[in-house]
Amino acid sequence: MRVGTVREIKNHEYRVGLTPESARELVVHGHEVWVETGAGLGIGASDADYEAAGAKIQPDAKTVFDGCEMVVKVKEPQAVERAMLREGQVLYTYLHLAPDPEQTADLVKSGVTAIAYETVTGPNGSLPLLKPMSQVAGRMSIQAGATALEKAHGGRGVLLGGVPGVLPGKVAVIGGGVVGFNAAQMAAGLGADVTVLDRDPDVLERLGIHFESRAKTRFSNRANLAAAVAEADLVIGAVLIPGAAAPKLVTREMLGTMKPGAVLVDVAIDQGGCFETSHATTHADPTYIVDGIVHYCVANMPGAVARTSTYALNNVTLPHALRIADLGWKEALRRDAHLAAGLNVHGGKVTYEAVARELGYDF
Ligand code: NAD
Repeated sequence: MRVGTVREIKNHEYRVGLTPESARELVVHGHEVWVETGAGLGIGASDADYEAAGAKIQPDAKTVFDGCEMVVKVKEPQAVERAMLREGQVLYTYLHLAPDPEQTADLVKSGVTAIAYETVTGPNGSLPLLKPMSQVAGRMSIQAGATALEKAHGGRGVLLGGVPGVLPGKVAVIGGGVVGFNAAQMAAGLGADVTVLDRDPDVLERLGIHFESRAKTRFSNRANLAAAVAEADLVIGAVLIPGAAAPKLVTREMLGTMKPGAVLVDVAIDQGGCFETSHATTHADPTYIVDGIVHYCVANMPGAVARTSTYALNNVTLPHALRIADLGWKEALRRDAHLAAGLNVHGGKVTYEAVARELGYDF
């Protein structure tokens, strides 16, 4: 099969669908790989790197879209890209169609077969193609929070790890799932005083077994949340209620109980945020202050570490890409129900029930 990848054109998107290493795997499997010139520059991969991996460099996205049976991307196709999609072609990327009627209509009209990373499933209802981005965001949240705690950024001037003779900073992580686990790991690694709050006893038990004395766990109810937030130098918001907006667990009133210059990092901002005073920010201007409390609410945190994020994403997307290329999409989906769960649009129809229901398509 001829498989292609293009330069991402969404604002401030530096990741790329295929790394040179992934291109090489496809080539070794007997496939031809076409790469738009400059596609890998955002992660420090040159055209020469792709050529050395056996890929062919193409002058523009149109050549790749026109010539390839499967296009592997990162972000949902933008309007100019959607105009280049066609029947008989597989698009394999993040789509997030439910809140995006325009994109959905264009994909349906194009006749493309669109497989969305975010709905490919794993054992026990997990979403393995979303997980690496939560890992990245969780780990980054502590870096971002540590920087925001510096005086120059409005923070209270606390070094999370402390130094000999001075106590470490206190970190409260609300939500102990993928983001929260990775945040706790980074904070504990720095030597901070870490507490993770969750309301799922199994999650608390898992965290307790993993961290032993390096992080405390606390059941998430109103009283415990209020106490943990009031004590913390840094609060990480990492809750998720699948399919729902994030609950506002920290109210504006609670900011008044916090130490001036304490920091809130709202990783759940992409689901509306779990602090009442959160609004989405960008990497260019990531923080703002409300009632003396620094807020960091960047909605696409992994974009800032495009290289790590791209490699993490390729680790989970490539095995499916190889099977689609080796077997053809129909056979690959027939053999793997988890991959089949990724099919969102095919043959002019929405094929994913939740999207069809949300946007009023027949299913
Ligand atoms: P997850 O499902 O692995 O974990 C969520 C956890 O929240 C679960 O353990 C759940 O029990 C817990 N929870 C639910 N309600 C709670 C409550 N009231 N109190 C305490 N805990 C509660 O989800 P995840 O992968 O860790 O993702 C967390 C959030 O981060 C999601 O909204 C996700 O979209 C977001 N995210 C944001 C970025 C970004 O760049 N900002 C990147 C990746 C993920």
